[in-house]
Order: sequence, then structure tokens, then C-alpha cells
Amino acid sequence: MTVDDSRLHSIYDLVVRRNPGEDEFHQAVREVLDSLGPVVARHPEYADARVIERICEPERQIIFRVPWVDDSGRVEINRGFRVEFNSALGPYKGGLRFHPSVYLGIVKFLGFEQVFKNALTGMPIGGGKGGSDFDPKGRSDAEVMRFCQSFMTELYRHIGEYTDVPAGDIGVGGREIGYLFGQYKRITNRYESGVLTGKGTGWGGSAVRKEATGYGTAFFVQEMLRERGESLDGKRVVVSGSGNVAIYAVEKVHALGGTVVAVSDSAGYVVDETGVDLELLKQLKEVERARISEYAERRPAASYVAGGSIWDVPCDVALPCATENELDESAARTLVEQGCTVVAEGANMPTTPAGVAVFVDAGVLFAPGKAANAGGVATSALEMQQNASRDSWTHEHAESRLAEIMAGIHARCAEAADDYGRPGDYVLGANVSGFLRVADAMLAMGVV
Ligand code: GLU
Repeated sequence: MTVDDSRLHSIYDLVVRRNPGEDEFHQAVREVLDSLGPVVARHPEYADARVIERICEPERQIIFRVPWVDDSGRVEINRGFRVEFNSALGPYKGGLRFHPSVYLGIVKFLGFEQVFKNALTGMPIGGGKGGSDFDPKGRSDAEVMRFCQSFMTELYRHIGEYTDVPAGDIGVGGREIGYLFGQYKRITNRYESGVLTGKGTGWGGSAVRKEATGYGTAFFVQEMLRERGESLDGKRVVVSGSGNVAIYAVEKVHALGGTVVAVSDSAGYVVDETGVDLELLKQLKEVERARISEYAERRPAASYVAGGSIWDVPCDVALPCATENELDESAARTLVEQGCTVVAEGANMPTTPAGVAVFVDAGVLFAPGKAANAGGVATSALEMQQNASRDSWTHEHAESRLAEIMAGIHARCAEAADDYGRPGDYVLGANVSGFLRVADAMLAMGVV
């Protein structure tokens, strides 16, 4: 894919010049600009008001020191980030990632994606993202708590239910959200439920928030297959990762009749031809925080492959649910050669641009993350809605709202793709539909 429109090309060049060394951010911007040629041709008003340049520049970027003391008494220093990218549609909304790979370029790529993803949900949420290069792996609960408290001691002044509402991402789950909320409440002396999402269901969290990203990805696959008169029933599925998104993608794929035969972590993958044992997976990952190799130790039917690529495992449906750029061109070729016809991204930007091109050329049904994984943030918006009305919905109600929202996102992508003469192109559909909603709001609000 190339940015062929010269106006878009010069915007991309400017983004690269102004954000040197931030490769993931450049990639995320390029993927969106690649879709916008026909939009700019049809609507010169966006280019005239320089809406695209403005969308590529975050409204605010915060970088801060996070000092804390580890269990041995040693002083540790991490770097904290919050990029408040776009608030045209609502308060900044997006997760926090705690992982050693986090730097400004990762946070900006995630924040940029979040703007369009959140727009696609149809809900009143802007886009932002944050995190730290802190590595929770191998840290005690007490260390994680002290880190979260220090992180929030700076972050609290920038967030609020009408300003910026963080949540989880890689390395940030229920435990971390609890510590972060506790510190926010203590510093501000306010029980402001709507300041964070992903809270425990006993203290302001929404039913189905934990499951929502994975469930939503499976619902999106179901919608794509329905268009072809098919379903997940009887399909062989490979899910990369074994974190929160992966676990609940497995759960919903199984509920919809598919069989997940492989899952992974950063060290390797397991193949289980009898179908992944969900209870064991949850026990290992949610309770023991163990490596996926343990799965094969405890389940004779399974085999563990250290290193290697999970995409070597043949499947009908591939759900990359681990991290960015985990599925490259050669993995995409292998998947297509071995009969894979559906790919939906549970993670953010897991497929490289060359990988996406392979899928598109092969006629694979390909759902980009900003559409397929939007169920998580959409359910966060439902959590905000419940907090604002001091209400708490049942599991059934929250899940049926999630299913409706995913069907709505699918419909918006499909309509935009049809409207721009590219039926079935979910990449174009997601980028265009998300862009139009943000751009129209920005035009209405003037040069701000
Ligand atoms: N981190 C998730 C995402 O990538 C969820 C963000 C949220 O719930 O605010 O969309």
C-alpha cells in the first residue's frame, strides 16, 4: 500500500520529521492515511481546515518520573506517559500499558489508534493512551502497589471523569486498576468512579468489562462470517497470546462452536488438538501468573514449542491477540497457504503492513484491531455510563449491549467500504468511518 495522494504524502512526511524515531507511531499514521485518499478527494473541506494534520498532533503529551522503592529497599526510577490525543468526541479514553518496551512512540501509536477505534464505537469518548516502561513480571504485589501509587501521584492531576479516563492494557489489569483507583481516591478525597474503568465489579466496575475485548473480537468474526452465510461453528482457530484479550477470545469462540487449538506467550506456544482447556488457562494466567509452557506440563494432550511462530499451526481463523507487529508477511503467507480465510485483530496493530497486504490480496476476511478489538473500550464507555447514573447492570444486559455495539461497528465499517467502492475492505471501512466521525466533530468545533 502506498500513500498516493500527494497532500497525504506530505502530511506523512511531516509526521515522520516531527516525531523522529517513533516507528510504531509512523506505521499507525501511515495505515490510516493510506485509506484517506478517496475521502480527501470527495471532501476537500477536511484538508482545507487542516483536520488531518491536527488529528496527527496529540492535544497534550505528559511525561513524568515514577520513583518507587522495591522489596530490597532499592530506589527504582521508571518513566510514565499519558498522551491525550483527541477530545473531539468526549473525554480522552484509553488504557495504560506497563511493559518494558513502552516509550513515547508506542504510547502515541496506541493513542492514535484509540481515537479512531473509539469513534467507531459510536460512543461519546475521545482517544488517549498512557503507561510506563515498568515491568510487572516477577514483581511482588507490594512492589506493583507501590509503583501504581507513585504513578498515580503524578497522573491524578491530569485525569478526571470529564477529562481523561484511563483503563488497562498490557500489564495493567484488575489488580493495578485497584491500586491506581485507591491512590486517586486518597489524594483527591473523592469517590469519583468514572475516572478509571476496568474496576472490580463490587466497587463500580461493569459486568463483562474484563471479558469484553476478547468477546467482542469473537462477535466481530461472527458478523463477518454471517455476511458469507457461515459461522464459527466447527472452525479451527488459533489465538496468539494468553493475556486478558486472548483468554476471553478463546472463551467466546468455544461458546460459538469453534475450537481453539493453540495459544502462546512471548516465550513459545502450545498446541492442544482437543481444544484449549479454558479453566486451566485461566488458572495459570489469572491466578498463578505462570508461563504458557506450564500448560503443556499439566495437560498430556498438549505440546509446547519453545520460540517459533504460532502462525505455523494450520487454522481456518487466526486471532492475533498478543501485541503489535507479531504477525509479519511470511507468517501471513504461511497462514494463507495453510487455508486460513479469516483474521481478526484482538491486539492493537498486530499485523505488519506487508502482512495485511498478503491477506487483502488473498481475499482473506481481515478485521483491523480498531474495529475487531473495540469491544473493550466500548464496554469501558458502558462502565462510565453506569457510573454516571450510579447503576450496575446485569451480565446479560452488558453482554447484549456489547454484542449490539460490535454489530454496529461491523455495519459502519461495511457501509463505509461500500460507499467508497471497496466492499469487504474492513481496513478502509474502519479508517474512513472512524475518521469521518472525528473530523466532522472537529470541523464543527472550529480551529481548536
Ligand atoms: N486498552 C484497551 C484498548 O486498547 C481498552 C481501553 C479502555 O478500555 O479505555 O482499547
